[in-house]
Amino acid sequence: MNAKVIDGKLIAEQTRHSVAESVQTFREQTGIVPHLAAVLVGDDPASQVYVRNKEKACEKAGMVSTLHRLPVSTTQQELLELVQRLNTDRAVHGILVQLPLPKQIDATAVLDAVHPIKDVDAFHPENVGLMLQGRPRFLPCTPAGVMKMLEVSGTATAGQHAVIIGRSDIVGKPMAALLLQKGADATVTVCHSRTKNIAAICREADIIVAAVGIPEFVRGEMIRPGAVVIDVGINRVGDRLVGDVHYAEASAIASAITPVPGGVGPMTIAMLLQNTLKAARLQAGQA
Ligand code: NAP
Repeated sequence: MNAKVIDGKLIAEQTRHSVAESVQTFREQTGIVPHLAAVLVGDDPASQVYVRNKEKACEKAGMVSTLHRLPVSTTQQELLELVQRLNTDRAVHGILVQLPLPKQIDATAVLDAVHPIKDVDAFHPENVGLMLQGRPRFLPCTPAGVMKMLEVSGTATAGQHAVIIGRSDIVGKPMAALLLQKGADATVTVCHSRTKNIAAICREADIIVAAVGIPEFVRGEMIRPGAVVIDVGINRVGDRLVGDVHYAEASAIASAITPVPGGVGPMTIAMLLQNTLKAARLQAGQA
């Protein structure tokens, strides 16, 4: 079998275009320009690229984006003070604190300090709780991007067995929650580093979502013929970006697959734009 490629770049472009149209309408109706404030602490090269891409995407969608750069030596108190200032700044609708943070800073305390109505990454416990209860305010960007790719590629999830590899708060856990919701209706298995017989569990899957952070962890022999394979992984190996799935082996056996790069990555940013517009709407009193 030669798997159909689920083109995240294209789906993300279409999503961004539709967000840009909605931003335009919102601006005309309210005179408000949605504004994302990004906070970058330190000089991690990958984080700088991510933040720059997010800023560019915001501007292309007709939103304002401001970057708050802090030195690597920033204290937790200084960062919390900035977050509080952004929380109370009525011109700012969304706040994004780029992870990872330097080791002297308690990331959980900082993410908890972001006002839930400006929490466009959907990391705040209030937003996680709402999502788990099936009444989301904001959807977590990467898992929401995966759901959109499944939908656009015509991949049915109802009654399908989805196996997620990884249980992080950012990807694995919210991914499981979204696939489990009424409407998505998948039967979900979550694997992690203590799971036994991962290969056998994966072979039972109709849909595999790999979010493990190990290059080419999912091999062809772990995939049932015809399964759909979603690769969330982004790993730098030498000068190449490699996913968590062995692409050549997997695409020979799966029915559909996301590439790396050009798969889930671009979707994450598109969903961030969607959340920023929603945050501006909520703060303008629109549902
Ligand atoms: P993470 O926090 O490091 O979590 C990795 C998960 O994989 C953990 O739950 C861990 O289990 C599990 N794991 C590790 N080794 C394993 C093994 N040998 N067998 C089974 N499970 C194992 O990573 P993350 O933040 O979720 O990110 C995962 C990948 O997605 C990374 O490559 C990251 O770069 C990428 N990512 C991409 C995007 C995007 O926009 N495309 C966004 C976020 C992340 P334990 O819980 O037991 O430790």
